[in-house]
Amino acid sequence: MNSSSTAKTILFWISIVFLGVMLWKLVSANGRSAQGDEPSYSEFMSRVDDIKEVTLYLSPNSYELTGEYIQPANRRFHLTVPKEVVPDLLSQLRERGVLVRVKEVRSGDWVLILLNAAPLILLVGFCLFLMRQTQGKWRRTGVAILGSPRTGIGYDLHRLEQGRPLIVGGIELPFDKGPVGHSDGDVLAHALCDALLGAAGLGDIGTHFPDTDPKWKGVNSMLFLEHAKKLLDEKRFTIEHVDAVVITEKPKLGPHFPKMREALAKALGVGTEKIHLKAKTNEGVDAIGRGEAIAAHVVATLTSR
Ligand SMILES: [Zn+2]
Repeated sequence: MNSSSTAKTILFWISIVFLGVMLWKLVSANGRSAQGDEPSYSEFMSRVDDIKEVTLYLSPNSYELTGEYIQPANRRFHLTVPKEVVPDLLSQLRERGVLVRVKEVRSGDWVLILLNAAPLILLVGFCLFLMRQTQGKWRRTGVAILGSPRTGIGYDLHRLEQGRPLIVGGIELPFDKGPVGHSDGDVLAHALCDALLGAAGLGDIGTHFPDTDPKWKGVNSMLFLEHAKKLLDEKRFTIEHVDAVVITEKPKLGPHFPKMREALAKALGVGTEKIHLKAKTNEGVDAIGRGEAIAAHVVATLTSR
């Protein structure tokens, strides 16, 4: 799990706990307001002179009365009244100067609805959480289910000179020539970096690592890939697949592909199954064919998450 999905998971559980606390508070507040006397209708009528105020809730099934006594102060009561006595009751209360409020829908009802819906809300939340987890798993195993795919292309070529180390895909190969370049001249890493940045719409390797900057002199190109990966994460892109062709007359690259795939996958934080490498010669034609240069083409596919 990467850091952003960990943050999302934490946020999700904080929301669930918050929702639970809110519900608990609402329910307990509702419980408190319901506390007090529960007189019968006749008891209530015998104390009608002690009433300070009442609220009558008219719901389809029952008529409920809540209110407060004058004495004892702040003491509340709650009772259900027969429907037929309501007009007479209200006029009696009003004659005695009692403050009377009539409400069609009990204001606390939404609390009950929320309370009833709480298990459903929790269930839906948990399903969303599971879906998110599953999506993450699918993404890691190469199945893209969200976001439209984006592709980027990258190309690089370096001249080869005697006595320089030949580094391709982060691996140094035994050979008498190596690339001339500001960094380590890794054509595969550079083309891959361009493909990734291109797919994400983030410019190219020269924008991020200008060869005029002495900071990048002789640097390991895996650093460029690690930086590109960071930029992709910030823009919420997932690397789905990388396909590359490296063109060089010599040496044979195929035997080194497993190590190259491992190095590239490690730098990009993906599985090696997402990195596909191919080798070509140039059939003895032009600079590459004469062994004077090495080149690479890369296509990268990303999805947004
Ligand atoms: Zn390059």
